[in-house]
Amino acid sequence: MFRNSLIFLIICSAVNGASIDYLNRRQAVIDAEKKQATGGRVFLTAKESKADEILVVLKNQAVADGILNPDSYAPGMHFFEAKPLIDQSKVFRILKAMPKGSVLHLHTAAAVSSEWIIKNLTYRPEAKICKADGRFYLTARAFKLCSEDSLNSIQALRTENGTSALFDRWLESLINLKYNSLDTIHVDINTVWVEFEQMFSTIKEFLLYKPFFEAFCSRMLQEFFEDNVFYIELRTTFSKLYDSSGKSYEDFEVAKILTNVVDTFKEAHPEFIGVKVIYSKHRETGNGTAYDLLMTYTNLTTQFPNLVVGFDLVGQEDINFPLNVFLKDLHEFQKSSLYFFHAGETNGYGSDADLNLIDAVLLNSRRIGHGYSLYKHPVLWRAVKSKSIPLEVCPISNQVLRLVNDLRNHPAVFYVSESVPIVISCDDPGFWDSKGVSYDFYYALMSIAPKTAGIGFLKQIVWDSVKYSALTSNERTSFSRILQARWDVFLDDLISGNLSSL
Ligand SMILES: [Zn+2]
Repeated sequence: MFRNSLIFLIICSAVNGASIDYLNRRQAVIDAEKKQATGGRVFLTAKESKADEILVVLKNQAVADGILNPDSYAPGMHFFEAKPLIDQSKVFRILKAMPKGSVLHLHTAAAVSSEWIIKNLTYRPEAKICKADGRFYLTARAFKLCSEDSLNSIQALRTENGTSALFDRWLESLINLKYNSLDTIHVDINTVWVEFEQMFSTIKEFLLYKPFFEAFCSRMLQEFFEDNVFYIELRTTFSKLYDSSGKSYEDFEVAKILTNVVDTFKEAHPEFIGVKVIYSKHRETGNGTAYDLLMTYTNLTTQFPNLVVGFDLVGQEDINFPLNVFLKDLHEFQKSSLYFFHAGETNGYGSDADLNLIDAVLLNSRRIGHGYSLYKHPVLWRAVKSKSIPLEVCPISNQVLRLVNDLRNHPAVFYVSESVPIVISCDDPGFWDSKGVSYDFYYALMSIAPKTAGIGFLKQIVWDSVKYSALTSNERTSFSRILQARWDVFLDDLISGNLSSL
């Protein structure tokens, strides 16, 4: 009824000469903004145009439903509540099947789904747990916080507990924020960050045990490959590993171990391009100096030039050292280093964390991790755009870590409207019940991109994930060939209805 009235009004208007002019000018604004947005100038083949029509119809059906039922509209909801709805969504099934190119912002310890860790690693006889200062730690050996006496076999505890499902659920709650109440843990940024960083501590020792580290990394590749991701740039530390004989493995040996895991995976999955590492340490680790960290990075990148490609400092920016504390060292190593800084992952405006963005740009960061607060800096975001420095946008991370509740209000909406280059990534999916990067793509398409954005938008960000990677030009060429073949199959499946009817 409403639609008919609208058509009637348009027809009435159209018979009036002045109103036709008004409608033309109105449409011109819409067209100009569409062209200016991410993907707006992407050329679509006939096949892509057909796929776009199908996808946009499905998307607009969901948007229309959301206007009538905002309380169950997944793109406007918190991921913990929206996930079952997203899983049922036709658009999500399409995005899951879509080849997504690279994931360029991912932290190792949180890269794998918590469910797999619980169902696999904690069922191994070496898996132990201890409690220190009111917190639990998973481990395979005694360490600084947990003496031999304080260690408990997880297998034994599971048997004593009687109900393994309940026990496993409790165990998983130590490494997955979804089990925390949205009313208590998720109330503010600092509170949720304490729990979030504790999860890194809880699992750290566990992943220093070489057999667990290898199984974990192999699983990481599997989960991302199954999610149609073919290349990963991993933020990692190369902490010393150990094995059951007590032998320990230094950072360069850990780099070899990771290389072996990746090579084995590539042999079994020839389409997988590989992994490169952005050597990343916590911003508090160096007591205000980054010299030793940069030396280690330099040694690693000299020994493994094709693996270790960049440097970053990580951890909550609001309360830890800002980049300008390390300026002397960062300047000294600037010529020989590639920086990929986290910067502006904050709600602040003019705070140290916010101003990290200025240092990231001046220090020639190749990409910016998050760049959440960049939109507040008109000089800087224009510089970022003209210098083609992509922002690594991680929608679910920003939501779970309390920067934004409704992702339709995420600053990336502005970046998309202005075509500031972005890639979509997932940050720490295992710690919030996500898997791979498809859920982040769902929010990017449904919450961040405009209503009309479809295949053009997706094509732009998928190919930008190759363009802005640290791959060599030859590697990018062979990656593009593999991606194009997968992209064509994806379009065929989408057009034939195979994906939306799954
Ligand atoms: Zn991060």
